[in-house]
Amino acid sequence: MVLTQLRAIELSIQMLSVQPDTKPKGCAGCNRKIKDRYLLKALDKYWHEDCLKCACCDCRLGEVGSTLYTKANLILCRRDYLRLFGVTGNCAACSKLIPAFEMVMRAKDNVYHLDCFACQLCNQRFCVGDKFFLKNNMILCQTDYEEGLMKEGYAPQVR
Ligand SMILES: [Zn+2]
Ligand SMILES: [Zn+2]
Ligand SMILES: [Zn+2]
Ligand SMILES: [Zn+2]
Repeated sequence: MVLTQLRAIELSIQMLSVQPDTKPKGCAGCNRKIKDRYLLKALDKYWHEDCLKCACCDCRLGEVGSTLYTKANLILCRRDYLRLFGVTGNCAACSKLIPAFEMVMRAKDNVYHLDCFACQLCNQRFCVGDKFFLKNNMILCQTDYEEGLMKEGYAPQVR
C-alpha cells in the first residue's frame, strides 16, 4: 500500500492598483492584458478581478474573504473547498476528529493525523511513497509485518 498525503493549500489574494506608467500585465485567466485600475495577484500570477473565479460556483474570489484554495489544479472558494474536500473524518489511530485544512495521511479508507501515522509496533514513521501494511486495521512497517507473518506461519496475502 502506498501512502498519499493530502494538503489543503490556502492562499491569500492581493488586490493591487495598477500604476499608470507600468507595462500592463497579462491575465492568467484570459491571457489578455490587464488595463483596469485594479488587478488581483494570486498564485504568483496576475488576474482581472473578473477572471479569478471559483471553478465550481463561478464566484469572484477577489470578493470572498480574499482567500482561495487550490487542489489538483482547481481554484476554489472556501465554501466549495470545504464541500469537496473539507470533511476529513476521524483519525483511524486515535479516533479523534481531523479538522478540515489539516494535513492528513490517507491509507485505503482510513485517514490519520500526520503525527498518528506510524508503525504501531516500532513507531517508525513513514514518508509519502513508503510501503506500509494494514493488518487488523493496525499500521505496520514492512519489517514488523513480515515478522508477524513468520511467527504466525502463513503465507503473505497480496493486497
Ligand atoms: Zn482576464
Ligand atoms: Zn465556489
Ligand atoms: Zn490521530
Ligand atoms: Zn515497525
